[in-house]
Amino acid sequence: MRRAHCRCETVRNFDYEEAAEKLGCKARFLRDNIRRLPHQRMGEAVVFCDCELDLIRALHTFVPPSVEALLNPPAPSAAPSEVPTLHSIRPSKGRNTARVS
Ligand SMILES: [Zn+2]
Repeated sequence: MRRAHCRCETVRNFDYEEAAEKLGCKARFLRDNIRRLPHQRMGEAVVFCDCELDLIRALHTFVPPSVEALLNPPAPSAAPSEVPTLHSIRPSKGRNTARVS
């Protein structure tokens, strides 16, 4: 099996307990879900490198659509909208300009 996802210069592997510690989860969770988690199996041993831990994080990262929209605003050409971009917003003229002493 190729390890295209692995970008470790020097692979350092972590066992269930170490991986759980790094991820901040329970080792039990990793064991229970190992069939759908990227990992290496060597005989009885199951280990994870940093890249696999990153993939596990990505697999369990949930971003609500409202937050996703904030992070990735639709491109103007693809989805024209009436919402002004930050760059198009200018301070209004009038109040609070010259007379503040
Ligand atoms: Zn790796």
